[in-house]
Amino acid sequence: MERIKMCAICGIKIAKYTCTKCGALVCEDCFDKRKMLCISCASGLKA
Ligand SMILES: [Zn+2]
Ligand SMILES: [Zn+2]
Repeated sequence: MERIKMCAICGIKIAKYTCTKCGALVCEDCFDKRKMLCISCASGLKA
């Protein structure tokens, strides 16, 4: 059993960050550090 959480978006990398909007655990590639959001929330965000 692995305790490592995988990225909720790509599912292939280790999740290191948590989206401040949806709470998804995502990897660095799927996280916008400037916005503190996952790429899903960041790309769907207006303004
Ligand atoms: Zn990812
Ligand atoms: Zn999100």
